[in-house]
Amino acid sequence: MTKALFPSSINIVEVGPRDGLQNEAPVPTQAKIELINQLSLSGLTHIEAGSFVSPKWVPQMADSQQVLTQITRHVDVCYSALTPNVQGLELALQSNVDQVAIFTSVSESFCQHNINCSIEDSLERFSPVIKLAKQNGRPIRGYLSCVLDCPYEGETSPQRVKEVTKRLLDLGCYQVSLGDTVGTGTPLRVESMLKEVLSIAQPEQIAVHFHNTWGQALANVYQALRMGIHTVDSSVAGLGGCPYANGASGNVATEEILYLCQGLGIETGADLERVARAGWQICRQLNKSPTSNVSIALQSQLKL
Ligand SMILES: [Zn+2]
Repeated sequence: MTKALFPSSINIVEVGPRDGLQNEAPVPTQAKIELINQLSLSGLTHIEAGSFVSPKWVPQMADSQQVLTQITRHVDVCYSALTPNVQGLELALQSNVDQVAIFTSVSESFCQHNINCSIEDSLERFSPVIKLAKQNGRPIRGYLSCVLDCPYEGETSPQRVKEVTKRLLDLGCYQVSLGDTVGTGTPLRVESMLKEVLSIAQPEQIAVHFHNTWGQALANVYQALRMGIHTVDSSVAGLGGCPYANGASGNVATEEILYLCQGLGIETGADLERVARAGWQICRQLNKSPTSNVSIALQSQLKL
């Protein structure tokens, strides 16, 4: 295999402070701020810092406004947040987010369980959000869940992923992040799914978002990189999961992506040790170990 198959550099979207922490035990606001401040100094350029969903649904994110207004912003870092509706977007704008994200699913049942409406209704709901975000000069990213499997409906058709991705791009999302929410995907299925999606989208319009429930996330990222995808969502220390998908474990760890990319000669711009240190600190807060072999190996190498 030659190196030419892979992109020369990739963008990492660090989702630990949001996707990660929203499915962990609650941590104090100050710990989140400290985590984001540390990650901001690691060379990562996009940090998803919060979520403006109802605190009734996601109590762990109720302090997103405080977090976003109290972090020390780094000029080279984009700080984004989830904004499911206009009300959430208004709060996000007051908190001066750089970018916003909306989310839906490829699976009708998951959409109903997760956001209480059909896929079509969810897309309709996003229209005013997208309009207001654009008026305020904020780029919009779309998240699509269950792109390989759904906990209620089983296997997802790649054709369906293509269709909903196209809808999100047509609505005005600059990029769609394709999420294997349940973490059951394997590289060959990732290949079929991405082949379909890349028939209607440019590689830069697509990001991959793998959960590591069945230990396949890194192999799936590798597959996506081989196909020219160069935006990867990951979570420091492998934090998180999905509160609505029973048993879903954390996101692929940012440390694993950085180590893989080092080995492949792919530029990430981020410093592995700094990211890992940020991870160890938040894991101490959570009273758990990082869900990342790279992080654990590094910790023992540095004799910490
Ligand atoms: Zn996720």
